[in-house]
Amino acid sequence: MTLNELRLESYRNYLDCSFTFDPGVNLILGDNAQGKTNLLEAIAYLGSGKSFRAQRTAELIRFGCSCAQLEGKVFSQEREQSLRWVLFSGNKQRQLWRSGVKKKTSGDIAGVLPTVLFCPEDLMVLKAGSSQRRRLADSVLCQLRPNYDAALTEYNRILEQKGRILKDRFENPILLDLLPEYNARLCRVGAVLISYRARFFEALGRQAGEYHHRFSGGSEDFQLEYKTVSTVTDPQASIDRLEENLREHLESHSRAELESAQCLTGPHKDDFEISLSGTPLKAYGSQGQTRTAAISLKLAQRELMKREFGEEPVLLLDDVLSELDPGRQDFVLNQIDSGQVFITCCEPGRFTKIGKTIRIDNGQLKNDN
Ligand code: ATP
Ligand code: MG
Repeated sequence: MTLNELRLESYRNYLDCSFTFDPGVNLILGDNAQGKTNLLEAIAYLGSGKSFRAQRTAELIRFGCSCAQLEGKVFSQEREQSLRWVLFSGNKQRQLWRSGVKKKTSGDIAGVLPTVLFCPEDLMVLKAGSSQRRRLADSVLCQLRPNYDAALTEYNRILEQKGRILKDRFENPILLDLLPEYNARLCRVGAVLISYRARFFEALGRQAGEYHHRFSGGSEDFQLEYKTVSTVTDPQASIDRLEENLREHLESHSRAELESAQCLTGPHKDDFEISLSGTPLKAYGSQGQTRTAAISLKLAQRELMKREFGEEPVLLLDDVLSELDPGRQDFVLNQIDSGQVFITCCEPGRFTKIGKTIRIDNGQLKNDN
């Protein structure tokens, strides 16, 4: 799929800006703080309804404005389609149109414009805290499986409500009567999440292992292990069995949850671990090994999406190529010789030769584009 045109109105530091893109490589050039990452964020948001860096929708709206608009023309699923989002700063629900037809949720546009983002923080994700790894996995799974996206939203909502009960019950003990109901729902939806994740991590590990093998000249054996709640012995078991496992773990931690006033157990603590020839990367991997494994994971995410949708997802490389040594740059560039790619960087350097260059200056296109 390709994003051919994009118009941003009152989005981040863009007042009103229209872009035309190349179906291959688009190089986004500009000094710091001019709007390069904002543009990649807008592309990702257009296709997924999610921002990779904002906590709240209001952050996406230009300072002082009450709404923002993103509109894109996409060639996908063998036809021209358009996507349009309108975001509001207050409580008003955001609005979405697909080819002029109003839609309710981002699940209604799944597969129209899938994106994979790769940024410098991803290079160290295997050494970082588990929340960054969950985010990495969720960003792909939510686009691949709209039902997973819906389950994750539901899970997080129940979790937040349960968290509030645990905190507020000191003042209002009657709230504790609600806890069993919340726990039951958490176990049910949590089991759905684990089931999706188990299958996803298996496919991701296999694919990333292939890239890593090619990358490292076959010298290291790459293994990905999904880590979830300890009572889950087989994450690929039935939803009923997983639900039972989660209930068991919750029951054994219920006292600790009450004492700490925190939700201590469930798939919101999930993680995954990479080992190279049996040695865990997080504790022992060198910087080079960690980067190579992270690149393999990213390429694998892209490959899984391609397999699912039958087309290359749009790849967003935010400042990442300039972070890599020439050998790794070449490996990445050789693997992505097809599909649409957006590459941001400050210095033109060696990439200027490979596609259309778009220069950005303070939320505007520079005249020589
Ligand atoms: P770098 O090279 O440093 O990564 P960049 O070109 O990627 O820079 P962005 O992160 O895209 O820069 O843009 C940052 C600019 O956008 C900042 O100056 C920030 O103040 C501005 N900005 C972010 N959100 C908004 C908003 N809601 N309204 C107006 N401006 C915003
Ligand atoms: Mg940036």
